[in-house]
Amino acid sequence: MSGTSPLRQEIVIMPPEIRDVGSEVQLLFAVDGLTEKSLWFTVEREFAGFIANRLDAALVALLPAAMYLKRDIYLKGDVSEDLMFNVNHYVVPLLVAAMPGVGRVRATAANQVSASSHNVGHGVFTGLSCGIDSFATVHDYLLSDTVPDGLQITHFLFNEVGGHGSSRQQRTKELFEVRLEASKTVAALLGRPLIRVTSNVDFFYSNPFRQTHTLRNAAVAHALAGGARHFLYSSSYPYSSIHPEPFPTSAKIDPILLPLLSTTGLTCHSAGAGYSRLEKMAIVSKIATAAEHLDVCTRGHPNCGSCFKCARTIFSLELLGQLDRFSGLFSIEAYRKAEAGYLAHVRSAEYSHPVLGELRRASEQSSRVLNAKDHIRIGLARILRRVIGRWRFAGSWRLHEAYRRLTNFSASE
Ligand SMILES: [Zn+2]
Repeated sequence: MSGTSPLRQEIVIMPPEIRDVGSEVQLLFAVDGLTEKSLWFTVEREFAGFIANRLDAALVALLPAAMYLKRDIYLKGDVSEDLMFNVNHYVVPLLVAAMPGVGRVRATAANQVSASSHNVGHGVFTGLSCGIDSFATVHDYLLSDTVPDGLQITHFLFNEVGGHGSSRQQRTKELFEVRLEASKTVAALLGRPLIRVTSNVDFFYSNPFRQTHTLRNAAVAHALAGGARHFLYSSSYPYSSIHPEPFPTSAKIDPILLPLLSTTGLTCHSAGAGYSRLEKMAIVSKIATAAEHLDVCTRGHPNCGSCFKCARTIFSLELLGQLDRFSGLFSIEAYRKAEAGYLAHVRSAEYSHPVLGELRRASEQSSRVLNAKDHIRIGLARILRRVIGRWRFAGSWRLHEAYRRLTNFSASE
């Protein structure tokens, strides 16, 4: 059933150790069979009571690492029985279908346990990146009148699990601290505590963060399952784009994957997949806190105005007639220089594109008048996209490069 050779080394993860590290408390699992000798998560002392004393977090964090190496996992301690069941029956096959480069593995444990009062919290936790998806979750699960009491956000998370760049780089640590301060300000405005979580989970991966981001962040929720009853993970894609097929980001399977990472004590939700990108943008554009603190940039902090996420946000806000409210958050001058290229990037995308298709339709229906240069650039971009999509050959990087020179954006963004 496991499909792995009995001669292949099994990955062994030891029971959790909880120890003091300065002003923080660390949850640590010794690991045998992977590149690092231990996996750890660290939180400030005031949240130490949330730490869950079982192996669930390690299983969720390291499952893809095992699957890249095609090695089984043995958990030498207590693991939630429903998580183990779901991992072996559903999560592994789902990741095989959707995550390029992984193989089937099997997880076994010394002791499978049911939810206990020790590990069942009452909190509703969600990340606070201050991006569009994050603010849409804040709207639905905190600001909206319709959210049930049991699902109202009680705590925000701010995680260092590789999402700010490689955890080995000093620049990543600096960017994390800068963004942390910004998120703390927003959390205070929203009246909820923010939990700072750092981890070395990124050290186990050489693949891009976006392939495994869902599991890395869900692992943090499991690490704090002593305080969390619900974990809301803001989705990037609408339901119409959800397909378990090989794709560079696990976001495409979030609404399928997250419920499978739940236990009796912790329910994991994909939040926001009911909205299209423009619908989300329209919701967020009405939030006063977002108009002062929206942070979408892929390059750093504050928003550069010209990376693909900044350009997409400004382009969308302009379509919605809401850019004035947000213009102080972006370098609009940088955007105006990138605008013609981004217009071609949007208008050359297929209507079926999960994000750009909707923007293309809205842009074509807007009153925007195109000049001759715009038409030529859009026409060339469409030809390049078509050739890139149909023919994959050794020299196709030249086509990607030509597309980038024409639009200043990547054909795959
Ligand atoms: Zn940017």
